Amino acid sequence: MTVVSQPESTAGGGGASLSAPYEVEFPFQRTTGPVMGAFLSALREGRLLGLRTGSGEVLCPPPEFDPVSGAHHDDPGALVELEPTGTVTSWTWVPSRPGDPAPDGFAWALIRIDGTTGGTLMHAVDTGGDPDLMQVGLRVSARWTAARAGALSDITSFAPGGPVAAPPLTDPGERDEGALRLVTPLAMHYTYVPGASRSAFLRGLADKRIIGRTCPSCEQTYVPAPDFCARCLCELGAEKQLDGRGTVVTYCVVSFPFPGQTFTPPYAVAHIRLTGADTRVMHLIQEVELADIEIGMEVEPVWETNQDPEPGWMNIRYFRPTTTPGTSRA
Ligand SMILES: [Zn+2]
Repeated sequence: MTVVSQPESTAGGGGASLSAPYEVEFPFQRTTGPVMGAFLSALREGRLLGLRTGSGEVLCPPPEFDPVSGAHHDDPGALVELEPTGTVTSWTWVPSRPGDPAPDGFAWALIRIDGTTGGTLMHAVDTGGDPDLMQVGLRVSARWTAARAGALSDITSFAPGGPVAAPPLTDPGERDEGALRLVTPLAMHYTYVPGASRSAFLRGLADKRIIGRTCPSCEQTYVPAPDFCARCLCELGAEKQLDGRGTVVTYCVVSFPFPGQTFTPPYAVAHIRLTGADTRVMHLIQEVELADIEIGMEVEPVWETNQDPEPGWMNIRYFRPTTTPGTSRA
């Protein structure tokens, strides 16, 4: 996290709040398997498939597991061709947002696809922006995009009326492999604004000071402190400085690698209750064998020696034990 000063942004009465861009990302790929992969590949071809279960049910979308028996469906031979038409069984009208399948409002609907014996396909129904046209029992058919990629969005929406053939693919090049592997780029991009009191805490760290504030009502001391007590909702008292020492409340050893990892495993991360505080902070524990870390161990911060420090947690490199077993650090 890069903390940047944003003087024009103020919160509370304790001075300007900091802000920082924040990005949380969980990118991963999943394989879609022989049934869902075939279903998605068929969508790219402008075709809709269902699956005939062992008990003779025909379901769309094709499930990987039988909803009744739990049996694993991994036989592409059980897939059956369906007309991309159906009947609305339930719906709710929503206003359109950027990127939605219709510009003037549409319905999210459960659609019983013709030829199926149970289950429904959830998709958008575009009535041209007219919610009065929506009703249970409405007959609809798929409208396909030409830019099909092997996804449910290859059907732009369903619409009242008879079937319309899928237009030729705009990019008929390589196929199938894309439909067998889904990239799921889950990401949130936002701006973190810690507020005036927490900003004072983060600035204090740049000066090697740990600042807390105590609630005048319940006497709980927060580190870092928000502007108001989470219990009493009253404004917290004046800043007070702690010496930074604390006690390990709980900890874990991270022993596996993951994308974006800053440290090389194995390493220990602990919840630490600083002396004089009632809340916990989370930080690394180093200068001790991982096997020797204990709950209740007293620790102290090791500060970064940066000549021009930025506000933020990175000013504490890690915490270390104040003593080692049988030895005073003195
Ligand atoms: Zn309180």
